[in-house]
Amino acid sequence: MTERFRAGWHVGRVVSRRPETASAVRLEIEVPTWPGNHAGSHLDIRLTAPDGYQASRSYSIASSGPATRVVLAVDEVPSGEVSPYLVHDLVEGDELEVHGPLGRYFVWTPDDPDLAPVQLIAGGSGVVPLYAMAAAREREARGPDFRLLYSVRTPDDVFFADELAALTATSIDVVHTRRAPATAARPPGRLTGKSLAASVFPATAMPRIYVCGPTPFVETVAGWLSQLGHDPARIRTERFGGSG
Ligand SMILES: Cc1cc2nc3c(=O)[nH]c(=O)nc-3n(C[C@H](O)[C@H](O)[C@H](O)COP(=O)(O)OP(=O)(O)OC[C@H]3O[C@@H](n4cnc5c(N)ncnc54)[C@H](O)[C@@H]3O)c2cc1C
Repeated sequence: MTERFRAGWHVGRVVSRRPETASAVRLEIEVPTWPGNHAGSHLDIRLTAPDGYQASRSYSIASSGPATRVVLAVDEVPSGEVSPYLVHDLVEGDELEVHGPLGRYFVWTPDDPDLAPVQLIAGGSGVVPLYAMAAAREREARGPDFRLLYSVRTPDDVFFADELAALTATSIDVVHTRRAPATAARPPGRLTGKSLAASVFPATAMPRIYVCGPTPFVETVAGWLSQLGHDPARIRTERFGGSG
């Protein structure tokens, strides 16, 4: 039976920060009262300015399980209110208010009785919760087949590059939209319905599908999946925001 992790407010301390990509940072936050979280869930960070002004934003959790060390990866939205602060100004030792874990729908748990294959489809930083699912699957001796289709601008924009390369239970297909490495199977270019169809599990395999990324990416991909005959009830989406 899947454990329920009750959401609440917590205070965490940044214990590690390092560049994840040229525009993103990986944050490890120690949250002593954290109840643990399922792979795919997220939390809200609330920042309070000296004058009392508050802003909160959601961030997916790259870690899962009972640990109190929570791993996030935040990409900078250059004109944004919160992400530039997290990427550039937050330092080790800083305290943060966090609320979570949140999101019971966009999660994968190893004890899920549904053994159909799992298709993960990520755009940019949308890979964070999907990486958490692939890492959780990797820790299990047995489980469904996993595939990840991951759209990024260039090889330098791949989140969790080393960790993804080390996965053995998930097959990974990276689409580079602007610049591809010399070893890439295809030239750079945006993901198309045709290339998506060639990469993902077919509808006849009845995969469970998780799609995450900027809102236009998620909506386009969900439309292609429907056209390919995938059951909308088996497609779970998480939109990170932004417009076309
Ligand atoms: C459930 C959930 C999980 C998320 N997980 C992550 C995560 O793991 N890593 C991460 O980097 N972000 C994640 N996000 C996005 C995050 O919550 C913020 O929206 C993002 O950091 C921008 O916040 P901001 O305050 O800097 O920008 P804002 O001040 O809120 O927005 C500035 C401008 O940028 C646009 N914008 C907002 N968000 C995006 C975006 N994601 N892409 C492009 N344009 C955008 C807005 O429409 C606006 O025009 C997640 C969002 C949700 C809903």
